[in-house]
Amino acid sequence: MSDCIFCKIVKGEIPSEKIYEDEYTFAFLDIHPNNLGHTLVVTKDHFENIYTTPDEEFCRLMLTVKKMATAIKHGLDADGINIVMNNEKAGGQDVFHTHIHVIPRFSNDGGYHGRHLIYKEGESKAVSAKIKKELEK
Ligand code: AMP
Ligand code: ZN
Repeated sequence: MSDCIFCKIVKGEIPSEKIYEDEYTFAFLDIHPNNLGHTLVVTKDHFENIYTTPDEEFCRLMLTVKKMATAIKHGLDADGINIVMNNEKAGGQDVFHTHIHVIPRFSNDGGYHGRHLIYKEGESKAVSAKIKKELEK
């Protein structure tokens, strides 16, 4: 879809801090993370939400989600991970391109709802480097 921000990120038309990509999926840092390292995993093809994503595409997406969760857990020494998918406006979906949030959690983080952090200069690169290092193992 030509006016979809995540399609543009997948195509490299809009910059992102990329963590991982394969033939079907793409993962990058959320620009306003709940916690540093909060990653979005998207299908490369454009589907609006869970209902319209073909089963096979959804399975592939979840395999990448698992890979990201494991790399984020170890790379950032997270105490836990939340996997979140918002569907439709009433479900909190703002970007209508299928995506899953992988959110690192820390014992003392006080919860993540409603918090939107901003990366300081160089911080997103440093965080993504830690996650990518785990993926190389
Ligand atoms: P949702 O509410 O589930 O649709 O989440 C959309 C997410 O996309 C939000 O957490 C935004 O912070 C994130 N987001 C929007 N634009 C960008 C962007 N250009 N790069 C990275 N993340 C983005
Ligand atoms: Zn799209």
